[in-house]
Amino acid sequence: MGPHVSTRFVTCVPSRWEARAFTSGMPPGTVLRTGVGPAAARRAAGRPPVHGADAVAVAGIAGALRADLRAGDVVVATEVRGPQGSVGCPSAPLLAGELRRAGLTVHLGAVTSSGHVVSGHGRAAHAAGGALCVDMETAWLLTGAPTPYVCAVRVVADTASSPLLRPATLGRLRTALRTLARTGPALSAWGRAAGEREVLLAGPRSFCAGVVRAIDVVELALAQRGAPIYVRKQIVHNVHVVEDLRRRGAVFVEELEEVPAGGCVVFSAHGVAPAVRAEAAARGLTVIDATCPLVSKVHADVRRYADGGDTVLFIGHEGHEETVGTMNERAGRTLLVQDVADAERVEVPDPDRVSYQTQTTLSADDVARVVDVLRERFPKLRAPSSDGICYATTNRQRALQAVAVDSELVLVLGSENSSNSNRLVELAERLGRPARLINDATDIHLDWLAGVRTVGVTAGASAPPALVDELVSALGGLGPVRVTDRTVTTEDVHFTVPKEVRVS
Ligand code: SF4
Repeated sequence: MGPHVSTRFVTCVPSRWEARAFTSGMPPGTVLRTGVGPAAARRAAGRPPVHGADAVAVAGIAGALRADLRAGDVVVATEVRGPQGSVGCPSAPLLAGELRRAGLTVHLGAVTSSGHVVSGHGRAAHAAGGALCVDMETAWLLTGAPTPYVCAVRVVADTASSPLLRPATLGRLRTALRTLARTGPALSAWGRAAGEREVLLAGPRSFCAGVVRAIDVVELALAQRGAPIYVRKQIVHNVHVVEDLRRRGAVFVEELEEVPAGGCVVFSAHGVAPAVRAEAAARGLTVIDATCPLVSKVHADVRRYADGGDTVLFIGHEGHEETVGTMNERAGRTLLVQDVADAERVEVPDPDRVSYQTQTTLSADDVARVVDVLRERFPKLRAPSSDGICYATTNRQRALQAVAVDSELVLVLGSENSSNSNRLVELAERLGRPARLINDATDIHLDWLAGVRTVGVTAGASAPPALVDELVSALGGLGPVRVTDRTVTTEDVHFTVPKEVRVS
């Protein structure tokens, strides 16, 4: 990428009232009062500062088309429709996230513009097309704007049930204008974030074979047995995956006591302790085990080494479900080692009979440091029979390294409780790059992007690939984006689902 060229940005606000409410939050010189209605909007779009701007925003009030929108609710346009066609606003999730963090009630959807005041049947017609609100300027401003990097924020002033001039109109208008004033900082941040950039995509990224299998298990169980299907703990550590399955009939529980007699329960990808299996059997529950086969391998190793007389040192994070499940395979003969400090002080009954195992989702560098210390203290230390840190974790870390070195900012898609996603953030930070863990594009603070020309993007093994596409698309709404895929290796690992849900 070439040197950073500052972006020319303008926010268009139609009326004097709206401009007065709005301008208070904006840097001087970035707000244009366009005048009310299509003709004024068309004129404004055709001359400076809109003409010549790199990024154009529209802010104002609007009439709601959907019954659940209240006065003061904010609509962020994903699309603007008008008589001349429609304009997409792919950066809408970024703006919506910013406005929600400011405490506003935000809806994402289509905004439609009409050449005249719309009431009664007119509103019903627009609403039938799925638009959330209607105004009289946005379409003319944005279809006429010379740049595709546009956004629109409209605050509901009259609701679908009580439109236009009724006694309460003034109150609703005041509410809308007060809210409009609060949208200024977010739009201003949108303007600062606008600009050209490069996105470096780490590959492999996103779902691993164990996560695909675990999700398949729940989907197949739902399809074959019908809802509800109970899932002990989060099937994988990702809020989007969990919410999607919940909508389709999965019921997530913390412990088996929440599963009614005769219920069907899925064990999550992270594995369970033997006591959980025993409890399910004692209660006669139908169990479908979605434990990742690579986690099951570690369980088997722990049993084998412990039964052979070793003390097993388990390198992992206290309280993580995988740690709890694995260590409880042989609770009396397994000790937790979380870091180098633990490795330096752990005491074992027989220093010649020690082996180690690891959680599958740790940082390869961290584990290597811990193992070095253990090996120095216990020269006969036995290593796991399998890889320990799994192929997916290793590959995602290697891939991230390849993009982080050239990135000014690293974005890691993944949930807060996702171990492998957190390790990716730490890895980028260790390489000296600012890195953020985000659930999706709405978590991005627009100021993170201001002046940033190269963004590294990856996703943890439990984050759906669609989130990466949405993120790249959202960044593409801020300015021209060049996407470079840096794939360091390809993966062809596939695990078959358990027999309980296998279709022969
Ligand atoms: S991250 Fe590794 S161990 Fe965990 S589910 Fe994926 S493949 Fe299995």
